[in-house]
Amino acid sequence: MDMKICILPGDGIGPEIIAQAEKVLKKISEKFSHNIDIEHGLIGGVAIDKTSVPLPDETIEKCKASDAVLLGAVGGPKWDNVSHEIRPEKGLLKIRKELGLFANIRPAKVFGPLKEASCLKQEIVDRGIDLVVIRELTGGIYFGEPRGIEEKQGEKLAYNTMVYTEKEIRRIAKVAFDIARVRNKKICSVDKANVLEVSRFWREVIEDEAKNYPDCELTHMYVDNAAMQLVLNPSQFDVIVTSNLFGDILSDEAAVITGSIGMLPSASLGEKNPGLFEPIHGSAPDIAGKDKANPLATILSVAMMFRYTFSLEKEADAIENAVNLVLEQGYRTGDIFTSGCTLVSCSEMGDLVCSNI
Ligand code: NAD
Repeated sequence: MDMKICILPGDGIGPEIIAQAEKVLKKISEKFSHNIDIEHGLIGGVAIDKTSVPLPDETIEKCKASDAVLLGAVGGPKWDNVSHEIRPEKGLLKIRKELGLFANIRPAKVFGPLKEASCLKQEIVDRGIDLVVIRELTGGIYFGEPRGIEEKQGEKLAYNTMVYTEKEIRRIAKVAFDIARVRNKKICSVDKANVLEVSRFWREVIEDEAKNYPDCELTHMYVDNAAMQLVLNPSQFDVIVTSNLFGDILSDEAAVITGSIGMLPSASLGEKNPGLFEPIHGSAPDIAGKDKANPLATILSVAMMFRYTFSLEKEADAIENAVNLVLEQGYRTGDIFTSGCTLVSCSEMGDLVCSNI
């Protein structure tokens, strides 16, 4: 298959972890005979230094002309004092908007050899944690109008609006059901339908969309219960679909129970534009340039790219299996190191994954 990928390394550990992901892309293209055309673009602090803006138009054009975008991380102390409008993070928000990315997909999986890293009791982790949180990313209370802070009859007040259209709910439902179909076909929609009208409508549309997926099992859960169930019994979940606010909170909770920020990939998808794939962690300025970072979250983001953009399951599985093998062999970067394991650098970890593909 011919593929065009735009790579945005960004700042801090971004270039180091991206270099390992590029080794993996090369290995996959050789092994599975794909033709992968790679372009690089500027984003974040490095873009501010070279072009005065965190997301130059040239980068947007390159991304839009690609099938998928792979991002490292942006930001760092060097740009902490630049003016608010051109902060590195603005580049990230802008590229998500430019690409119309409305679905954020965050898997939270505990790899067998890293079970001890979880903050949960081992008896809970032993049941297996392998779930995906699908969060609506461009609607809901973060964007709803009216919003504001004002004074009425001598008293100050503030308000936001949680609003969803049928179209917005239906399109995120479709993404979630399609993903459930290639997993264990279990989907849990999280809302607050006992209190909120917008959640009752959310539930109605999700149930209607479920009619198109009779092979999938749909359940509903209130968000307060979901927050508890994620720590009490996470193995009950396969795919969780939820709104922007609830997803923001639950995806971070799901991430933290796995215990290792350097292991977690993510994808953001739009209707037809290229998807954006990136690790969930930041630019880790404290270890940048030292060849110490864990590149596995970025490498696993490449696996998501093969699965969700190119529908190439074998390639995605090959990467995920190689990561698992390297961990079983006892190799660890500093962030996931425990005694008895072999400490390796960022670039050694990249090489090890490639040699296990
Ligand atoms: P961070 O995720 O960069 O780092 C938090 C801690 O985790 C640090 O101790 C770091 O060393 C460690 N860590 C993170 N990723 C790691 C990896 N792959 N391997 C080993 N250790 C890793 O979060 P932070 O320190 O709050 O933010 C640093 C900068 O990153 C800030 O400028 C922030 O704005 C930015 N940031 C960017 C993104 C993004 O690009 N998506 C996300 C979060 C934060």
